[in-house]
Amino acid sequence: MLSKWMRFLLWQPFALMCRRFPLWPFRATITEPVEHVTCIRIDNLLTRLLSRFGGGYDYAVCYLVDGSLVIDTGFPWARRRLKKTLLEIGADRTVTTVVNTHYHEDHTGNNDLIAQICKVQILAHSDSIPEIRFPGELPWYRSFLFGPSKIAEIAPIGSTVDTKHLRFEVIHTPGHCPGHVCLFEPKKKWLFSGDLYIAADLDSQLRDADGPQWISSLESVLRLKPAWMFDAHGSIFAGEEVVEKQLQRKLDFLVTIRERVKQHATHGQTTQQLTRKVFDRRDLVGWLSFGDGWLSLITGSDFSRGNIVKSFLRNADTRPDSEN
Ligand SMILES: [Zn+2]
Repeated sequence: MLSKWMRFLLWQPFALMCRRFPLWPFRATITEPVEHVTCIRIDNLLTRLLSRFGGGYDYAVCYLVDGSLVIDTGFPWARRRLKKTLLEIGADRTVTTVVNTHYHEDHTGNNDLIAQICKVQILAHSDSIPEIRFPGELPWYRSFLFGPSKIAEIAPIGSTVDTKHLRFEVIHTPGHCPGHVCLFEPKKKWLFSGDLYIAADLDSQLRDADGPQWISSLESVLRLKPAWMFDAHGSIFAGEEVVEKQLQRKLDFLVTIRERVKQHATHGQTTQQLTRKVFDRRDLVGWLSFGDGWLSLITGSDFSRGNIVKSFLRNADTRPDSEN
């Protein structure tokens, strides 16, 4: 109760101030990697630094496709900058649909803003809708980094999403979290991959990650043979071979973790002990974080290697024999 009051009395004024006057001003970078795709990156010094540390990806990338479709809406602190950018490029007159690839706050944080300035329908997988409609309280560092979301109306996504020139297939790709979707345009072979990829060897995950599902999602997306991959944290890969190589690297990374979990999972050990064996990294960060990775260290174990290891233990194939 005390922490709730502290949050109310201290956080609310801080949040209000950050919305109007961000501590570190945000800038928007707009690129057009291919005709009909506009990539809007919003970041500042802090998110750039963290991204660099985290593996070289950006925070809050929104894609505007064919003028009318916005894929992911970024984090709430980026709101003022995003509004200015959308108005500058005239998107307020053309956008009709928003798709959230999943429910994490850095992908849904400005749904309400876009609903205010454009006449849009916001869509997400039905498994994501409860989390988007009724978001839980975020850990402090995520509130600090991304800001508090406001809730907007949202509807379940169908099997396709149309724009003037394009028709996207909605591919259900759980694993990063439940209800994750990718959008695939079969004629152009474009894949808007949300957080399916992020970085090939990102070892720390949130509690909602599911390794076995992630592996099957990657396998099904690989079968589509995408020629472009637009990642929700800014990496853009062009060329069938290049995309395949990146997706395969991610798949191999997860399969290796699965195999190491299978190899080392025995009874009588904690997740922490198992995680240390699975990753077997004897460096300073590993030592300081009890083998759980630097992200675990700075996020109070919210992101951790242990979460992905645990998700493989839920699978009968990987659990120690006597539990099968
Ligand atoms: Zn995510």
